[in-house]
Amino acid sequence: MSPLYQRIAIVGAGVTGVLTAHALHRAGFRAIRLFDSASSFTAAAPSIQCGPLILPCHGSRLLHRLGLLALIPKTARNDIVKIRSTTTAGHTISSYDPVQLVRDAPHRPRDSSIPTIACHGRDLYIALTRALPKHHDGVEVKFQHTFKELKQNEGNESEKGEKGAMLACFDSIDGPVESGVDLLIADDGLHSPIRSRYLQQGGGEVRSLPGMYVRGVVAADSIAGGGGVSVPHSNELIEVFGAGLKFCYCFIDDGRHIGWLASVSSNYQDALQDPQTRPERMAKLFSSFPAPVPALLSSTLPFSIDTCPSEDLRPPSTFHSADGRVVLVGDAAHGCAQELWQNVALGMEDACMLSELLSKHAPPEAVRLYSQLRAPRIKYALQLTRSEAEQALRPSKMMASLRDMAMSMMPPKAQLDAIAQLLQYDALREAEQA
Ligand SMILES: Cc1cc2nc3c(=O)[nH]c(=O)nc-3n(C[C@H](O)[C@H](O)[C@H](O)COP(=O)(O)OP(=O)(O)OC[C@H]3O[C@@H](n4cnc5c(N)ncnc54)[C@H](O)[C@@H]3O)c2cc1C
Repeated sequence: MSPLYQRIAIVGAGVTGVLTAHALHRAGFRAIRLFDSASSFTAAAPSIQCGPLILPCHGSRLLHRLGLLALIPKTARNDIVKIRSTTTAGHTISSYDPVQLVRDAPHRPRDSSIPTIACHGRDLYIALTRALPKHHDGVEVKFQHTFKELKQNEGNESEKGEKGAMLACFDSIDGPVESGVDLLIADDGLHSPIRSRYLQQGGGEVRSLPGMYVRGVVAADSIAGGGGVSVPHSNELIEVFGAGLKFCYCFIDDGRHIGWLASVSSNYQDALQDPQTRPERMAKLFSSFPAPVPALLSSTLPFSIDTCPSEDLRPPSTFHSADGRVVLVGDAAHGCAQELWQNVALGMEDACMLSELLSKHAPPEAVRLYSQLRAPRIKYALQLTRSEAEQALRPSKMMASLRDMAMSMMPPKAQLDAIAQLLQYDALREAEQA
């Protein structure tokens, strides 16, 4: 292992930061510090803790290989065997089994039978944080530490490192803190200040899409009308496409809760500003959608609903700073639109690939290889998710009918090949072969 990369600081304890700490520890690193400005894991990473999460199989395979998938008990997740898209009239646009798509790959990835899973994001995050190795095992977690800057150690040799070594500077409740580091891994979210400050080679600007996301979780036995909800198949994830509106739903555990995610074009945004009236307003907006969609919406409690703007990142041209001391992971590197549920799986790829490369290659070469391997993959994922989001947010009925017609006329193979490229990818094999 490279001596120059002994002390690693991860800024941001989001799901990718936590996974990176796991993956680095597994790769043999023992001086890992994880910093977050929040006061605890409960307050960190709001985007994963607020609602349902779909983790496509290229992410769940990596979790499995890190030995972490089993941390989410079977009762707290749902293995998705089919993803079906329909129009509001109930016509099927496409239907596929994610595991089958992976099995058909020319270079079938290892563990190809591991499924796409749905769970509550908080259940995954809590399981990962609880399993983090402890301080004496080489992983130290520091809350209420807000990253400020990197600077050189001007003092004499000390525990922070020799003169000229790099120091990461934080604001903490006890005042300024400096920590000697050899590599800074930034998982500080989509609007990453570290990206803007230390990577200046083009791309990496946040772009708005014309709409927003609304998501919620509802207890299956509380659905309006009583008698529970009828989801056609309990292991199906269903996506319904309307005009400027899209609705996805599935069970997120063993039948007790349903998670949903709606894409709403900006034409309808104003109606959803008041959190108290959101469930009824949403039910009204989606009233032409097939059952059980309106009932799911009107039965979701206002505090179980969360909204966020639809945004993504212009693909950055590189993922490391010119001196090789700073490297991006997670949403900071590739925050994408929520269509196709790519974000967390891409973050898992970052964590596994970076750890593997850092354990095998000398410092500047390791992060250079990371950027080189991640760039085409991230560019592809960003393009595909953006184009899916643009299609979902088309507000006119005519445009929506043309879209549905084009989607149903496209030969199934062509339609699924694009998704298969995302699902078949084996990040660890790529890193091992580099
Ligand atoms: C509505 C919605 C639905 C979604 N659905 C899915 C889905 O189904 N599947 C999927 O894969 N993804 C989904 N996502 C996206 C997914 O939740 C995020 O991509 C993922 O959680 C991002 O994790 P992260 O670790 O990269 O960053 P974040 O979770 O953003 O973590 C960043 C952390 O950095 C900390 N931080 C920031 N600045 C500093 C600083 N200066 N100093 C110290 N700490 C700092 C923050 O406190 C935070 O804890 C969804 C998101 C939304 C909003």
